[in-house]
Amino acid sequence: MNFAELGIGAPMLDVLSRAGYTEPTAVQAAAIPLALAGRDLLVSSHTGSGKTAAFMLPLLQRLKAAPRSPGRGPRVLVLAPTRELAMQVDAAALAYGAGLPRLRTAALVGGTPYGLQIRKLERPLDVVVATPGRLLDHIGSGRIDFSRLETLVLDEADRMLDMGFLADIEAIVARMPQDRQTLLFSATLDGVVGQLARRLTRDAQRIDIGATPERKADIEQVMLFADDLRHKTRLLDALLRGAEVRQCVVFAATKRSTEDLCGLLADSGFSVAALHGDMQQGQRTRTLQRLRDGQTQVLVATDVAARGIDVAGISHVINFDAPRQAEDYVHRIGRTGRAGRSGVAVTLMGHHERHRVRDIERFTGQPIRIDVIPGLEPRFRPAPAFKRPARPGPSRRPSDRPHARWQGTR
Ligand code: AMP
Repeated sequence: MNFAELGIGAPMLDVLSRAGYTEPTAVQAAAIPLALAGRDLLVSSHTGSGKTAAFMLPLLQRLKAAPRSPGRGPRVLVLAPTRELAMQVDAAALAYGAGLPRLRTAALVGGTPYGLQIRKLERPLDVVVATPGRLLDHIGSGRIDFSRLETLVLDEADRMLDMGFLADIEAIVARMPQDRQTLLFSATLDGVVGQLARRLTRDAQRIDIGATPERKADIEQVMLFADDLRHKTRLLDALLRGAEVRQCVVFAATKRSTEDLCGLLADSGFSVAALHGDMQQGQRTRTLQRLRDGQTQVLVATDVAARGIDVAGISHVINFDAPRQAEDYVHRIGRTGRAGRSGVAVTLMGHHERHRVRDIERFTGQPIRIDVIPGLEPRFRPAPAFKRPARPGPSRRPSDRPHARWQGTR
């Protein structure tokens, strides 16, 4: 099955082939023909499954038809939980729709000035991607008109509810035409999300691709012991010089250590940038754009700042400081292994941090392999392996491990 067979036509097909999308992902194959036919959809899928293109491609294709009424309000509205996701979806709309004549989009997100958003709302728009709070501000000021709206998309609906946006979503939906198309994407369709989904959609087709192997990212997990900060820094340097590292996110514990590490790596000649919560939204957006464009090879980030980053070129994640919570570990390593690619996650572990590994392994149910970089072995060999979850699989004794992966990386 290819995109043309799913009903996608020029000019999107050219954009897709230039982007190297050789075949549709499972969620795209299932959702595109139904969305093109105007059906409502309830889709359980995850970030990384290709869900943005699964709704954006058919909706852009439908924009080729004339609007159903005159006016300047958007024909497509996408609601997303975070600024980062909203801006990513807006960028995707512009990228996929690059060949469409005069596609006009606006990202209406919090934390950014109103001026540009208001100017965009004064002109005709095709696609609006918004976070619920800022959109309600604009609605409250009477700046946005939904009489032309054809399709409403709720992206990551479960996260929007987790973040307390239920009342905002209900207030927004109350302004939408009744005969719209509604597409709801969520990691889960159970519980409150399921109830919301049923209220907002009509005769929706359910698509459940949660169980397809494609979703399971192929991430190799490795741990290196470090004697002290100096040793950790040398390990990091050696890892980053490895031939297999395309792009890398390095996690540090605090904003301060993020900046310090960034400076250190810049001095060592890496193209590196920092990302943390104290930065202005505009600065964060530019930093992520440079990462996406491949201008930045190494991003040093805090947990909060890096949530939701989706850049296919990220081949490695390095935990310079071990994550405090096992859950953070999962979010961190999920920055690699995107879009069906494989990835490597390396945790640099001080001897005093060992107990954290046990928590992580328990949480993920997956063992983390201990490795060493020849020439940079820790002075203290790790004590006999931790009590790991009893599961079948390759031997995990450190001494059994070939070190080929890191050879020649310094
Ligand atoms: P998403 O799940 O929408 O966040 O997409 C995850 C990543 O997959 C993005 O980097 C997309 O550019 C990429 N992607 C989406 N569809 C395809 C496809 N059919 N082939 C290759 N990459 C894709």
